[in-house]
Amino acid sequence: MLTDAEIETLKETLQASLAELERIDASSADSRKAVELDQQSVGRLSRMDAMQQQQMALATERRRQTEKRKLQAALSRIAAGDYGFCVRCGEDIDPPRLRIDPAAPLCGDCAKGAG
Ligand SMILES: [Zn+2]
Repeated sequence: MLTDAEIETLKETLQASLAELERIDASSADSRKAVELDQQSVGRLSRMDAMQQQQMALATERRRQTEKRKLQAALSRIAAGDYGFCVRCGEDIDPPRLRIDPAAPLCGDCAKGAG
């Protein structure tokens, strides 16, 4: 079991990670605009490069949105008092596991089962 103080510390970590992801979101919106502008003035080959880069940026962004949802879900579990319990089996999640990944929704056993 986690103590209230431990949960508070992990909550701060989650909020900081979420704020960081939102900051990256804001700056990547700017760089997307830059790519669009570039595309008007460059040749076909570099346009393909730019499109490839955009695909990669989109993949990165999708990962970031998934991570954000995971952080937000963990924060709402804290708010609801469900934090620290596996969302699948309801068992306690080992505190060392939460210190490594405060947003971890599953206990070690269920995470192994999920691959
Ligand atoms: Zn579990």
